[in-house]
Amino acid sequence: MIKKIEHIGIAVKNINESNQLFEKLFGVQNYKIEAVESEGVSTSFFMVGQTKIELLEATTENSAIAKFIEKKGEGIHHIAFEVDDIVAEMQRLKNEGFELIHQQPKDGADNKRICFLHPKFTNSVLVELCQEKIK
Ligand code: ZN
Repeated sequence: MIKKIEHIGIAVKNINESNQLFEKLFGVQNYKIEAVESEGVSTSFFMVGQTKIELLEATTENSAIAKFIEKKGEGIHHIAFEVDDIVAEMQRLKNEGFELIHQQPKDGADNKRICFLHPKFTNSVLVELCQEKIK
């Protein structure tokens, strides 16, 4: 079951500069910086009230964020929804005709198991599913 928006991901060219910009905008500091090497990204997380914002900077040329910025420039990259059972939700969405970018959940930033849906099937919105890892 999809529970709520877990975070919104924003692609940025320079995470240090964008950290300063969003700190000013939100009036809060980021609570975490985390590299996800498998995705070729560096991430920064802000908690704005109850809403989480993730900044993503590419750390390799082949990363999806590098390609996104090349095509579309900086901006909103994905919307992540919290699910209670990611494997069950992936199966449900597959049965509904959505295409998953990966067939198994992957490790994401901020202690999550994640999966992306192909934007071709979601009105070009890149949708991430995420489930908190059990510690
Ligand atoms: Zn995300």
